[in-house]
Amino acid sequence: MKADRIHNFNPGPAAMPLPVLEEIRDAFLNYKGSGMSIVEMSHRSKEFESVIGDAAQRTKRLLNLDDRFHVLFMQGGATLQFAMIPMNFLADGRSADYVNTGTWSTNAIKEARILNKPIQVVASSEDKQFTYIPGAIAFNRNAVYAHITSNNTIRGTQWSRFPDTAGVPLIADMSSDFMSRPFDARPFGLIYAGAQKNIGPAGVTLVIVRDDLLKLVPENLPVMLKYTTFSAKNSLYNTPPCFAIYAVHLMLKWIDETVGGLEKMAAVNRTKADRLYGCIDASGGFYRGTAEPASRSQMNVTFRLANEDLEKRFLEEALKSGLGGLKGHRSVGGCRASLYNAVSMEAVDALVEFMNVFAKRNG
Ligand SMILES: *Cc1c(COP(=O)(O)O)cnc(C)c1O
Repeated sequence: MKADRIHNFNPGPAAMPLPVLEEIRDAFLNYKGSGMSIVEMSHRSKEFESVIGDAAQRTKRLLNLDDRFHVLFMQGGATLQFAMIPMNFLADGRSADYVNTGTWSTNAIKEARILNKPIQVVASSEDKQFTYIPGAIAFNRNAVYAHITSNNTIRGTQWSRFPDTAGVPLIADMSSDFMSRPFDARPFGLIYAGAQKNIGPAGVTLVIVRDDLLKLVPENLPVMLKYTTFSAKNSLYNTPPCFAIYAVHLMLKWIDETVGGLEKMAAVNRTKADRLYGCIDASGGFYRGTAEPASRSQMNVTFRLANEDLEKRFLEEALKSGLGGLKGHRSVGGCRASLYNAVSMEAVDALVEFMNVFAKRNG
């Protein structure tokens, strides 16, 4: 840790790798000899076109996407995708399946219902406070798509394997685990992720969409609410969030070249999560994980202490020891350590050491 920077376990916006922040700083006043900052130049300049092109190409390469997939850079966060997906893909009389695994899935379902789309919730873990990922789901064969949330940021659960939908295109909100591990993208019709957890700052949403879903997009939608507007113009129909896209491009380059790709990224992420869950499980009940072990997230580790007073003291003392962002989401309380891509092994080791000492002193 650099003396003036804390170990940052924020849930989003979240930590970015120091080398990426330094590169942004160093290039900020004069981007590649242009005499301008990246935030001062045209989105149609050759410099910016190469930035956005590289971000799209690296996404395709890191995830092994074939030519049917398009990489789009959009605004409105993951939250706008909740509405755009049913607007773009559900023509009159067509339905889609949703799996409800927590707050963000619930919000996606709500938005589809606001639009009066006849969607069906085919599985839910609400019966046990969203502490697990449902198994053995029967999807409807005539559904246009099946929507899941791959990682539940608030409840600390994650799909370790994606469900078999028998050919129905999967759509996933991957906001909080995108680019944290490799996966087979072929069953997916669309993937979306707000950048501010695993791949950069807030302000841009990465969307990956497959040709066959693009064919469903109707003409009679406002231009900025149609996926085809973005796919036809390389996400440059209007002015995109240039700075956020630039930072995402550097973050993807870091995953690709410094970390060495998604297999390596996943191995680091697995080790980080194993160390922290190991500490929780070895604490003799001092720390209690809130998710069922088989559904535990490698990105957001949620846990409780004996009571709220002790949790408050834990958070205060952690911050004094240079460990920040450990408060659970306001809707559920408790503690949460977000271990996104940019959170180092060193940060996790410092947290585990602090937790062991805190448990010994207060147990
Ligand atoms: C943070 C988060 C969201 C909300 O994203 P916005 O970009 O703020 O709209 C949606 N889904 C998941 C899984 C998240 O973690």
